[in-house]
Amino acid sequence: MPTERAGKSGSSGKWNYYPELPLADSSIFAWPPDLRFLARWFRRNWLSLSERMLLLAIAVAAWHFLYPGLEQAKTLAAGWIVQTWAVNMGLMLAVAGSLHYYFYIRRGQGKTLKFDHRDMATGSRSFAFRNQVHDNMFWSLASGVSFWTAFQVLTLWAMANGYLPTTSFADNPLWFLAFFVLMPIWSAFHFYWIHRFLHVPFLYRHVHSLHHRNVNVGPWSGLSMHPVEHLLYFTSVMIHMVVASHPVHVIYNLHYQALGAAMTHTGYEHLLVRDKRRLALGTFYHQLHHRFFECNYGNQEMPWDRWFGTFHDGSDDATRRIRERKQHMHASVS
Ligand SMILES: [Zn+2]
Ligand SMILES: [Zn+2]
Repeated sequence: MPTERAGKSGSSGKWNYYPELPLADSSIFAWPPDLRFLARWFRRNWLSLSERMLLLAIAVAAWHFLYPGLEQAKTLAAGWIVQTWAVNMGLMLAVAGSLHYYFYIRRGQGKTLKFDHRDMATGSRSFAFRNQVHDNMFWSLASGVSFWTAFQVLTLWAMANGYLPTTSFADNPLWFLAFFVLMPIWSAFHFYWIHRFLHVPFLYRHVHSLHHRNVNVGPWSGLSMHPVEHLLYFTSVMIHMVVASHPVHVIYNLHYQALGAAMTHTGYEHLLVRDKRRLALGTFYHQLHHRFFECNYGNQEMPWDRWFGTFHDGSDDATRRIRERKQHMHASVS
């Protein structure tokens, strides 16, 4: 069983669990490229049970069995739009709901590998309905699923009408498969810039602070965002305006944004099966963002935070530096 470390971590504040600190540089863009590291990265993400493989399986199955086909998508009619919305609603409830059930109701692995020692908040005035889970479910389902559906419907409608460049496995098998591998990298690139923009003090105060009320996160926190943030967040789908795609690429892109957010915000590093780490979920990297705010805007595979001096590696030094940065950012506007 992975060991628990309680008490003061390398960073200020108490964690229930934290990985080895300082966090290593795990960017796939490190120079010169380390081929063994890249091979391990590929194997971990694409040749074993991983978040990316699970989401791909869900996207392919949903496209073949649940979503309406392109023929129906040619005209904007209520029937297939409602069907798309219902499938998305069902998927969000199934993925975030089952993770929440396993970790927070059944308490499937107790607090093993849980970063924050706290439970989901109840009775707190910070949250709608004074309940963190109900608040997070409301924003994820009412706003999140609506924006997700709107972006999916409009993209598939445009694709069905020949307004977007398209491809298929038969046309170009190599590109068809490679695009799935590149999608999370595109998503990380897009998210970093959208996310930095959301931390501009005005937008932070009026929009992004809604996501950040969750200092301690759970599966329902992932997509719990202000509608303006949802509007920006799902623009990742605009890549399909310029890059030849198949409907299943569009669906994978949106699932990665929506369902993937639930998986990366569980508050746990891995799902354990018989005491073995079987599925990587949240990262300490993003958990540090939720606690210290003005750091780690992207994800650890991308080099941006390191390049732009916003990387928090979990050490006390980094905490001091990020606190100064935060005071400076917010002092200059108040
Ligand atoms: Zn987050
Ligand atoms: Zn943020």
